[in-house]
Amino acid sequence: MKNSIFNYTLDELGQYFESIGNKKFRATQIFEWIYRHRVTSFSQMTNLGAKTIEHLEENFYFEELKVKEVFKGQDRTEKYLFELNDGHLIETVLMRHNYGNSVCVTSQVGCKVGCKFCASGRLGKVRNLTLSELVLQVLTIQRNLDKSGERLSNIVVMGIGEPFDNYENLLGFLRVVNYPKGLEIGARHITVSTSGIVPKIYEFSDFDLQINLAISLHAPSNEIRNKIMPINNLYSLDDLIPAVKYYVEKTNRRITFEYILLKDVNDSVANAHQLSDLIRGINAYVNLIPYNEVPGAGFKRPTNEAMQEFFATLRKRGINATLRMEHGAEIDAACGQLRAQMMKRNKKA
Ligand code: SAH
Ligand code: SF4
Repeated sequence: MKNSIFNYTLDELGQYFESIGNKKFRATQIFEWIYRHRVTSFSQMTNLGAKTIEHLEENFYFEELKVKEVFKGQDRTEKYLFELNDGHLIETVLMRHNYGNSVCVTSQVGCKVGCKFCASGRLGKVRNLTLSELVLQVLTIQRNLDKSGERLSNIVVMGIGEPFDNYENLLGFLRVVNYPKGLEIGARHITVSTSGIVPKIYEFSDFDLQINLAISLHAPSNEIRNKIMPINNLYSLDDLIPAVKYYVEKTNRRITFEYILLKDVNDSVANAHQLSDLIRGINAYVNLIPYNEVPGAGFKRPTNEAMQEFFATLRKRGINATLRMEHGAEIDAACGQLRAQMMKRNKKA
């Protein structure tokens, strides 16, 4: 069986070459070809020598993610629908911002965390994405952008799935896309979002790349969080907040709290005060997200006035927060969620 060339980190590929009595730096050469020059065959790797190329052709292949469809949304946003080799479909969103192009990556087929408000959690988890499936979401979109001379500069791992439930592949992915002679996406331009898998937050804080972390908080108390995020029964705020403090201390980076505003659930002025108390003193920033209603989930988006008041209360309490209600920014905040909406729009059009 041939192996996908995209299923290796640089270290793993280097070890492979060493193990067959070849040179470790072959891996560096190959990484440059596939991630910087973005070639699509081994024969294009002209500095490798005929024997190595032959070996590669016999043992490896260029895996592809099949592009089923590209939906074009507002603000030049594009949603890629990819088909995996086993037939599952995943979605990856390209967002164009004034600061650069960003891609929202999916980490799993489905998700087992089961947050009550989220459409992705409905089916449960089917499987983790492989390293190559993670990497190819980014590489395939970058190859398309190459045609118009555009570059991907940012990544958010906020699509379907819980990235910390696919931890090893996530770390491999981060190393591959960050590789300076390849796609070269700076660690500071990458954000991973988690629902709060506490042991992994500690591990991630000690990871050598300084990747941004976002926590899906969504509630100011255990009482409320238990109701909307079952994960809180396993890792409550009493465990989560110390883990967050550890990340901030260890990495010296500001953390992001994501907070979806849900009508009559977590959107009162009293809730805003509770939230301010909870995160006081942490180098953090709160990203308030107007809820995108999921049919049948039983949650509603608050009125604009209620959301503004919540936001104003945080600001008065000295909390760094943003509330962006315009459409493009919403995609940015919860890109995973906009897929369903884009589908609807495209069907109507
Ligand atoms: N599983 C990870 C990352 C993917 S979800 C996590 O939960 O953090 C990406 C973000 O979208 C999370 O903050 C999630 O809570 C939010 N989200 C989920 N459903 C949403 C909805 N219907 N409206 C707005 N945001 C939503
Ligand atoms: Fe999974 Fe994130 Fe959705 Fe929760 S919000 S069910 S963790 S994808």
